[in-house]
Amino acid sequence: MPAPKRKPAAAAPPAPVANTRASKLEKLGLRTDIDLVLHLPLRYEDETEVVAIQQAGMMGASVAQVEGVVTACDIQYRPRRQLVVTIADDSGQLVMRFLNFYGSQTKQLAVGTRVRARGEIRHGFFGAEVVHPNYKVVLEGAPLPDVLTPVYPAGEGLSQIFLRKAIADAMHNIEWRDTLSPAQLAAQQLMPFENAVRLLHNPPPEVDEHALEDRSHPAWVRMKFDELLAQQLSLKRAQVARRAKNARALPVIGKLSAAFLNTLPFTLTKAQQRVVAEISADLHASFPMQRLLQGDVGSGKTVVAALAAAQAIDSGYQAVLMAPTEILADQHFRKIAAWMEPLGVRVAWLTGSLKKKEKLAALAMIESGEAQLVIGTHALIQDSVQFAKLGLVIVDEQHRFGVGQRLALRNKTMKTVSENGGNEAAQNTAAVVPHQLMMSATPIPRTLAMTYYADLEISVIDELPPGRTPIVTRAVDQSRRDEVIARVHAAVQDGRQAYWVCPLIEESEALQLQTATETYAMLVEALPDLRIGLVHGRLKQAEKQEVMDAFSAGACHVLVATTVIEVGVDVPNASLMVIEHAERFGLSQLHQLRGRVGRGSAASVCLLLYQSPLGYIAKQRLMTMRETTDGFEIARRDLEIRGPGEFLGARQSGQAMLRFADLATDQWLVDRARDLAHTLLQDPTPANQATVSTHLARWLGGREDFLKV
Ligand code: ADP
Ligand code: MG
Repeated sequence: MPAPKRKPAAAAPPAPVANTRASKLEKLGLRTDIDLVLHLPLRYEDETEVVAIQQAGMMGASVAQVEGVVTACDIQYRPRRQLVVTIADDSGQLVMRFLNFYGSQTKQLAVGTRVRARGEIRHGFFGAEVVHPNYKVVLEGAPLPDVLTPVYPAGEGLSQIFLRKAIADAMHNIEWRDTLSPAQLAAQQLMPFENAVRLLHNPPPEVDEHALEDRSHPAWVRMKFDELLAQQLSLKRAQVARRAKNARALPVIGKLSAAFLNTLPFTLTKAQQRVVAEISADLHASFPMQRLLQGDVGSGKTVVAALAAAQAIDSGYQAVLMAPTEILADQHFRKIAAWMEPLGVRVAWLTGSLKKKEKLAALAMIESGEAQLVIGTHALIQDSVQFAKLGLVIVDEQHRFGVGQRLALRNKTMKTVSENGGNEAAQNTAAVVPHQLMMSATPIPRTLAMTYYADLEISVIDELPPGRTPIVTRAVDQSRRDEVIARVHAAVQDGRQAYWVCPLIEESEALQLQTATETYAMLVEALPDLRIGLVHGRLKQAEKQEVMDAFSAGACHVLVATTVIEVGVDVPNASLMVIEHAERFGLSQLHQLRGRVGRGSAASVCLLLYQSPLGYIAKQRLMTMRETTDGFEIARRDLEIRGPGEFLGARQSGQAMLRFADLATDQWLVDRARDLAHTLLQDPTPANQATVSTHLARWLGGREDFLKV
């Protein structure tokens, strides 16, 4: 079962002894009584029965509870230091081993003490054994509990006994009022809150243990529903709040937009046309757009972004495009500038590697409003960057930025808003925020996006431009490297180019660099008649640029690269991709890398070199890569393999919101919770308003901030 995903509180200052427990609770996010009451068991232990030692574990290793009297208690040193305690009952004896122990345990478990122990008991060559059992010292005839014992998620230094007591106290203190009315409970067929909570903390003897275990019990359903309802209410409220903010309407689809469409060497796909229309409609509004544009690698998001920028510029405002790497920003700059500059648009370029003079010139252009379109990296969010009248913010590969960075760009206030006088002046200019378009080629399944992302509209490009031949993917054992090198040679002979991606070495950048250099040397030696380039993160920007330029121009045949090329790079003539140690990459990363080929009309191939033996997950990943090139399908499988928490990772702090509901199995509840949230907010009677506020207070407390992404 997943551990609760609460955000740990900020590190507390050293606390006096009396407070350390409080601070440990706080680390688990348990500040108030209701927090404790909603700290639900991870699982349960059945301590209601004691079996004879001889019986325990006879059916194979299974968890059992036995009771006996200590007959020996020694510290042994072979094979390592450990406490070995033997207990006996009428049927036989059991050896308990403790590899970590306190000195005081030898006293606590002195010969003659009666102990109840629970653990995975095995019958081995030397008799019955158990390692690190849970145990307690009891008196003869001590009664057994008649309910399942809850096991709570506990931080370091918090005992179950302490947590149980703290939770019991809290249950005594809180006001149990149900946030939902009897009619709502009946309509949703939900268990009352108090009954559900009490049952989960203290399940009665006759409870369906299996339903508790897999969280399908009505009591769990109530908890999940409540949690999802809180989340949906708060998402919808965030949406209302956004709509109350001011943005500049950007309604003009004028000369620039028309000319731009005319000069494009291709026509937009149906999917592109649809999302362009969705974005365009948002830009007409005078509240800020917040839209995520999802489209698989190569689906043509850049041109959609450029059209949105054209509408902003036609409407008299600036647009900014931020990309996560210099390589990508540079590529956007060239491509978009080549499209737009001939149409009279002034495009500025801003990255960290600009010389001081160039930087000052760019800043001046941005500040004066002369630059209509600004393209760059996170250098754009520095304080020194001041926009004259920023209307639209576009963030490419948005998942590569932290929430803070995205907010910083959005929060760039407009310096001057003096145009048109009268009406405009009446508006609160400080509260004007730009429209925001985020783009991602790491598709997030829609249901997941709807549940996890803060208030966000979603557009999807679900179609690739015509004329692409699908990429063929093969997994190849390392030992066949020579064949792979021959393949690279053949591709170049055919007038194509190839990428050779170096293994990911997460632990050490230095080591990764070293492997990249070695791979480069190996290929230079193996392919003496080809021109080979090397690009990695430690190169200076100008050096990187030089290599990329040579590759784009076709002057370099094979590009050896680290994952710096993961996103966005677009060289249509490259049709072969080799990924070394593919087993070390995650699915979405492999998909992104593979997306660097298959951009032209030539049939493309992706070779995943792996080192055997492969672990289970790696095998699944490589199999998925071979079976599909559909990014949405890959994302779905990735989600399956890793689970939503991992899948979203640090990308999204909103995930911290769900502790109990599991989107893989509880989708049906999401839909219901969304409907009820809608009803409650749609019809703001005093009763409904009270429901909303008490429910949010109970479930989110101070955590609603997570949603303001
Ligand atoms: P991504 O969605 O991965 O950012 P790009 O915007 O880089 O994709 O587009 C990939 C390639 O497809 C580019 O070379 C682009 O010019 C081209 N392209 C985009 N839209 C179309 C289209 N409708 N028809 C043909 N080619 C297109
Ligand atoms: Mg792109």
